[in-house]
Amino acid sequence: MAKVHVKKGDVVKVISGKDKGKKGKIIKVIPAEGKAIVEGVNMATMHRRPSAKLPQGGIIHKELPIYTSKLMPVCSKCQSATRVGHSVLSDGTKVRVCKKCGEVLDK
Ligand SMILES: [Zn+2]
Repeated sequence: MAKVHVKKGDVVKVISGKDKGKKGKIIKVIPAEGKAIVEGVNMATMHRRPSAKLPQGGIIHKELPIYTSKLMPVCSKCQSATRVGHSVLSDGTKVRVCKKCGEVLDK
């Protein structure tokens, strides 16, 4: 299984593809597919027939999973899309850190 460098709740920036430059929060990570669902990114338009849930039918917008290789975490401190470094805290906890400013990304 590919190691995923992003986690649910991370704010990420899209670095390639049609949504390049967009930022959003990760709603869900799908490690088995190496993909994640990001708020407002890779939106698909779906046409729905009327159903119990959606009596009018119509068009809904939904995020589709995107490869995590296209995503870079955005550091909350320096506000830039950054490479992730790894660090071990004094209590042995492994955390991800911003390679630019050293801010701990796992809180
Ligand atoms: Zn930073």
